Amino acid sequence: MLQQVNGHNPGSDGQAREYLREDLQEFLGGEVLLYKLDDLTRVNPVTLETVLRCLQARYMADTFYTNAGCTLVALNPFKPVPQLYSPELMREYHAAPQPQKLKPHVFTVGEQTYRNVKSLIEPVNQSIVVSGESGAGKTWTSRCLMKFYAVVATSPASWESHKIAERIEQRILNSNPVMEAFGNACTLRNNNSSRFGKFIQLQLNRAQQMTGAAVQTYLLEKTRVACQASSERNFHIFYQICKGASEDERLQWHLPEGAAFSWLPNPERSLEEDCFEVTREAMLHLGIDTPTQNNIFKVLAGLLHLGNIQFAASEDEAQPCQPMDDAKYSVRTAASLLGLPEDVLLEMVQIRTIRAGRQQQVFRKPCARAECDTRRDCLAKLIYARLFDWLVSVINSSICADTDSWTTFIGLLDVYGFESFPDNSLEQLCINYANEKLQQHFVAHYLRAQQEEYAVEGLEWSFINYQDNQPCLDLIEGSPISICSLINEECRLNRPSSAAQLQTRIETALAGSPCLGHNKLSREPSFIVVHYAGPVRYHTAGLVEKNKDPIPPELTRLLQQSQDPLLMGLFPTNPKEKTQEEPPGQSRAPVLTVVSKFKASLEQLLQVLHSTTPHYIRCIKPNSQGQAQTFLQEEVLSQLEACGLVETIHISAAGFPIRPSGPWLILLLFLICGVSFGSLCLQRGTGHLRWSEPSEWCPHSEEATLEPLIQDILHTLPVLTQAAAI
Ligand code: ADP
Ligand code: MG
Repeated sequence: MLQQVNGHNPGSDGQAREYLREDLQEFLGGEVLLYKLDDLTRVNPVTLETVLRCLQARYMADTFYTNAGCTLVALNPFKPVPQLYSPELMREYHAAPQPQKLKPHVFTVGEQTYRNVKSLIEPVNQSIVVSGESGAGKTWTSRCLMKFYAVVATSPASWESHKIAERIEQRILNSNPVMEAFGNACTLRNNNSSRFGKFIQLQLNRAQQMTGAAVQTYLLEKTRVACQASSERNFHIFYQICKGASEDERLQWHLPEGAAFSWLPNPERSLEEDCFEVTREAMLHLGIDTPTQNNIFKVLAGLLHLGNIQFAASEDEAQPCQPMDDAKYSVRTAASLLGLPEDVLLEMVQIRTIRAGRQQQVFRKPCARAECDTRRDCLAKLIYARLFDWLVSVINSSICADTDSWTTFIGLLDVYGFESFPDNSLEQLCINYANEKLQQHFVAHYLRAQQEEYAVEGLEWSFINYQDNQPCLDLIEGSPISICSLINEECRLNRPSSAAQLQTRIETALAGSPCLGHNKLSREPSFIVVHYAGPVRYHTAGLVEKNKDPIPPELTRLLQQSQDPLLMGLFPTNPKEKTQEEPPGQSRAPVLTVVSKFKASLEQLLQVLHSTTPHYIRCIKPNSQGQAQTFLQEEVLSQLEACGLVETIHISAAGFPIRPSGPWLILLLFLICGVSFGSLCLQRGTGHLRWSEPSEWCPHSEEATLEPLIQDILHTLPVLTQAAAI
C-alpha cells in the first residue's frame, strides 16, 4: 500500500516527503510499467504522489510528454532530443487519422488545434496557453509549435514558388531569434530567459495555410538594460555585438576587443545564444536592411558607453556632479554614438528642470549623485524600450497578413509563470496577477464548465474542491478598492508617502479579503497576497515610484534633439506637444501607470483568449540546475501544486461527459453491449467514473482498451449530429 503525500502545502510535510523519496526508489525498482502510462487520468488513485511517480518514471525513461486529461504536461529534457522534433515526426502526427492515439506530444496538441480550426461546420479560433515557471520550456515549446505549423500549415505550391528565405513561414520563424536577442537574457534560472510576455497569432486562410502572424508583447523588463543582478546578464544582443562585430564595426561603434562595460556583466560566459550572425541574418529576412541594423547596433553601443558614465559626488550642492575623470571619454563617445551634443547630454543628466509658480518659471536644480545615476539609467531604459517596441512593430509589418487573406487564427501564449522571490515588487505583482487571470480562464473554461455540466445533468460526481481565485483577483484588481487601485491612487495624488504608509493603507482598506495574508513577521514594509499557487510577500518600498515609471520630460526632449536617424524616428518631435509640463497634481487626464497599462493589455488578451477554444500545455522543470536525467521531487511537486494539476486530472478522469439522449443513448448502449469485455468493470470510487481494472495502482494499459474506443465514439457523436443537421 502506497502512502499518500498529506497536505497541499509544500514544505509543511517534510516527513511525508522523506518517506516519499525512499519509497519512490523502492517503487521504481519494482514497477516497470509505470512509465507506459500516457495519460495521468489512468493513474489510480489520482494523488500528488502517484502523479509525481508516474512523471518521474516517464522522465527517467526519456518520455517527456504526458497527457493529463485536457492538458499536456511537458517535462524539460534539458538535453537535445532531435528525433523527437524532426519534420518527419511532425508529418506523421499531421497525417495520423487519430493523432491522440500516438504518443503524447506537443505535436498532438498542435495537430488537434489545427483540426479544430478546420472544422467545416463553424471554424473556431484556437489558442494554446503554454505555462510554467522560468526555465520550464515555455519558449521552447512555443517555438516548436511554430515550427510544426510552418511545416504542416503550408501549401506545397509555396515551397516551389518561393525561395525558402522569402516564404512567410520562414519569416515568422525568423521573428524568434530577433525577439530573443533583444528580449531574452541569461538569468539564474534560465540561460535564455524571456524577459517579456508574448502572444503570437498565427493567421490561416480558408485553405488552412499560414498566411501571416501578429505578435503582441507584454511588460519588457527594461530595467535590465541598466541594472543586472549579480551572476545574471544584460539582454543577449549586447554580448552578440561585443563578440561578433567586425574590426571595422568595432572602430565605428567604439567597441575595442576586451573593453569593459559596467552594463555588460559576465561577458566571459559564452552561450549559444550569443550568435550575432543568426540575429543579423534573421533581421535581414524580416526586412531590416544592413544600414538600419548598423544604426541599431551603434545606438546600443552608445548605451553601453552611457552606462560607463560614473559621477563623482559634488561637494557644493549648488554645483552639478561631474563625471569622474575616466568617464569623460564615455560621455564623449556615448554622445557621439547617440547623435547628441555632448554638453547637452551631460547637462540633462546632471540638472533637473522644475517649473513652478503661476508663471511656470523654470528652475534648474543640480541633482545629487544618486539622482544623476537614476536619470542616466532612465535614459537608457527609455531608448531600449522604444527600440524594442519599434522592432516588434517592424516584425509585425513584415509578417502580418492583409486582413482579407486570413480567416482564422491559432494563438500561442508564452508568458512568465508564477514568481515568488525573497524580494518581490511591482514586476512580480504584475506577473502573478497575469497568472491569476490565466488560471481563472483555465478554471472557468474547463474545470468549472465541466463540473457544472455534470451537476446540471445529474451525474453522480463528487465535486472537486477547485480553487476559485476570484477573491484573489478582487483583492488585486477589484473595484472600488484593491491593491492596484490603492497603488494607482498614490501615484495620482503624487504625495510623498512612505512604504510603511502604503502597507498600512493596503492592510486597513483590504482587511476583509480572505486572500490578504497575515503579515506578522515583516521587518520591512510589505503585504502578503495568498495566490492560488501560494502566498507571496510584496515589499512596498519603491512600489509607487515604479508604478509611476517617471520619465523626466527633459530627457524625452533631449532625445528629440538627436541627429541619429534611428532615434529621430523613435522620438519624433510632436508639434502638438505642450510646451509646458502640467504641474504636479493638476493634471486631469487619468494617470497612465504601469499597473493600469498592464491591466488594460491583460484584459485585451483575455478577451482574445475567451473568443477562442483554449488548449493548455503545462511545462515542468525537473530540476533547477538544468541537468538532464535529474528529477527532483520537491521541485516538481511544488510546480504540480502551483498549476493545480491533480484537480485537473480528477475532473478529466471522470472519463467522458456522458450526455447522449434518446436514439443516441440506444446506439451507445448497443455499441457498449456489443463489445464484451468481461474483465472490465465500471469503477465508481474517489469521484471517478471510468472503465478500469479495479486494482489499486493500475497502469491498466491493456485492460482499458475500451475506454478510448468509447471516447472516440462519443467524440464523433457531436460531429455526426452536426453533419445530420446539415
Ligand atoms: P521558459 O521559456 O519556460 O523560461 P525555455 O523555453 O527558455 O524556458 O527553456 C529553457 C531551456 O531548456 C532551453 O533553453 C533549452 O535548453 C531547454 N529545453 C526546454 N525544452 C526543451 C526540449 N523540449 N528539448 C530540449 N531542451 C529543452
Ligand atoms: Mg521563455
